Amino acid sequence: MSRLVAQILLAMIMMPLAGLVYFITAIFGFEIPGWDWEYNRVFMLANGVTFVFVVCYWWLLWKPRTNWTAMRALATGAATLVILIISAIAGAGIHFGIGDDLGVFSGGCIAIALWLFATVFIWRETAGERIARLRATGRNPVCCPNCGYNMTGLGVSLCPECGAKYTLDELFTQQQNFDSAELT
Ligand SMILES: [Zn+2]
Repeated sequence: MSRLVAQILLAMIMMPLAGLVYFITAIFGFEIPGWDWEYNRVFMLANGVTFVFVVCYWWLLWKPRTNWTAMRALATGAATLVILIISAIAGAGIHFGIGDDLGVFSGGCIAIALWLFATVFIWRETAGERIARLRATGRNPVCCPNCGYNMTGLGVSLCPECGAKYTLDELFTQQQNFDSAELT
C-alpha cells in the first residue's frame, strides 16, 4: 500500500471514528452529575469535542502534503471562524424554527461538513505550486499551464488531467514564461 492510499483510507474512516467520538462523549455527558438528560448541553459538549477531533485528525493527516503558506493558514483560520458563526446561526434557526432538540446536533454536523469542504479548496495545491514542486526535482518538465500536470513525454498537447487543449506554440510560450518567472 502506498502512502497516498493509506492516507485516503485514513480519510475515509475519519467520519465513522468521529461518530464514535460523538457517541462516547454524549454518553459521558449524560453521566455528568447535574447534567441529567439535558440534551442540548450534552450535544454542545459532544459537538465541541468532535469538532476538535476532526480538525486535529484532518490536519495531521494532510499536513505533510500541504504547502503551509501564511496565506493558507490565514484563510483556514478565517474560514473556521466564518463556518462556526454560520453553523451557530443555522443551529439556532433549526432549534427555534423547527422547535425540537435537533438544533444543537445539526449545528455541529453543519460545522464539520462545511469545514472539511472548505479545507479541500484552501489546502489544495495550486497550479503554480505544482509546477514549482515538479521543477524542484531538477528536471525541466513541460507542465500544463492550467493545472500544473506534468505533460512530459505525451504525444498530444491535450492535458489528460484537466482537459485543457493547447497548440504546440502556446505550450512552448508558457514554458518560457515559467522559466523567466523563475529567474526574476
Ligand atoms: Zn491540465
